[in-house]
Amino acid sequence: MDRIQVFQGDITEMHIDAIVNAANKSLLGGGGVDGAIHRAAGPKLLEECRQLNGCSTGEAKITHAYRLPARYVIHTVGPVWYGGQIGEREQLANAYRNSLLLAQEYGLRTIAFPNISTGVYRFPKELAAEIAIRTVRDFLINDDTFESVIFCVYDDENREIYQKLLAGL
Ligand code: ADP
Repeated sequence: MDRIQVFQGDITEMHIDAIVNAANKSLLGGGGVDGAIHRAAGPKLLEECRQLNGCSTGEAKITHAYRLPARYVIHTVGPVWYGGQIGEREQLANAYRNSLLLAQEYGLRTIAFPNISTGVYRFPKELAAEIAIRTVRDFLINDDTFESVIFCVYDDENREIYQKLLAGL
């Protein structure tokens, strides 16, 4: 699937139509990639996020990107991993799918995802990658708007997992 790519680095530096933020339900900023995005985008991002009234797990909302080189930020909320018995897999798939749907609605052609839920939210990395790749691949089967969907990996462990799984497709 040549529209799916892996890039290792800081998602806030990507010149792309949309970057996805692994936000929390408040949409008022946090640590990890969320903190990095808010720091790089500047205070206007938080101002816009305040108008959104939060976001449920698995849902997605879109804002401008302000000082970021990207055009838009799509904020989605991944699940906290509690052991996998309360729908975490489906919620993670929903986070990816709803972000893609929103990007599609806006006519966006390039989008980058961080490894949602695999930081503070403790989702097992390999399982998260399997779900992310399957959800994106299934979405792209019926889509002809996206040019590329990029998995932005930050740590070496996720890079190795994504390279291995994508090579096996
Ligand atoms: P969550 O709360 O959804 O687990 P985190 O931000 O804690 O979100 O982690 C999600 C992923 O984002 C982790 O794999 C982490 O390594 C990665 N990450 C952290 N900072 C950045 C960044 N600047 N660019 C891209 N990915 C990042």
